[in-house]
Amino acid sequence: MRIATINHNGTPTLAVRKGDNYVDLSKVAPDLPKDMLSLLQAGALEQAGQAAQAAPDDALIPAAGVSYLPVVSNPPTIFCCGLNYRDHAIETNNPIPDYPIIFVRAATSLAAHNAPMILPKAASDYDYEAELAVIIGQGGRHIAKDKALEHVAGYACFNDGSIRSYQFKSPQWTMGKNFDASGGFGPELVTPDELPDGVDDLRIQCRLNGETLQDSSTKQHIFDVPTVIATLTEVMTLCPGDVIIMGTPPGVGAARTPPVWMKDGDVCEVEIEGIGILSNPIAAE
Ligand code: ZN
Repeated sequence: MRIATINHNGTPTLAVRKGDNYVDLSKVAPDLPKDMLSLLQAGALEQAGQAAQAAPDDALIPAAGVSYLPVVSNPPTIFCCGLNYRDHAIETNNPIPDYPIIFVRAATSLAAHNAPMILPKAASDYDYEAELAVIIGQGGRHIAKDKALEHVAGYACFNDGSIRSYQFKSPQWTMGKNFDASGGFGPELVTPDELPDGVDDLRIQCRLNGETLQDSSTKQHIFDVPTVIATLTEVMTLCPGDVIIMGTPPGVGAARTPPVWMKDGDVCEVEIEGIGILSNPIAAE
């Protein structure tokens, strides 16, 4: 199943993909929660999929032209992995980490599919990072690696837009990773049954104004999804709706000579095999 959060006639609406249309979930399953976080908390993703299968015509919304909201607009926590691609760590002259590098993003830093990612007034070194986003379904603590994928509700594309000068003002990367509307997230949550087991060899690309600048595979993950989930839950409880972004492959703008930064008017796309294309125009604050 593919499910998105869309803005339908001014109302945030859960929408299940059916061919060229979305099914308005509030019409076919009025008793189910109305937003993604509540749907995940209720463990009702599968019910949503079933309800959408028998959708009458008046519950269909043409997918072309819908206005998207972030897949989950208010994740309890957005965890981010740094330097988690073997080929990217080498590119940036960093040693291969022996423990996952984790930082967090605030929900205010999210931008929906097709919505502008904002180039802030504060700086001009705005970089792209194509990433696999993992959306947690069932939460938990001390989740074993071999059970970890059972806790995943689905996957989406993410663009971990980074203001490099702010990222490196201090040893903690948080400031450069949290400008308002700097991180693209979407377009849809894709459930694991639509994807190869383990999502550990999906092509992942980033294009800026149509030019491919990142092109790798999730097989380059140093710490795979089960390892990251097991590591996080040694420390804390993962909650339904939490998002984990898995780090970025080589080709970021900062590692290029001369560097490539996203400018006002650019369009940045993240494509992950089997998941879809996340597209964001860049707009100055
Ligand atoms: Zn990143």
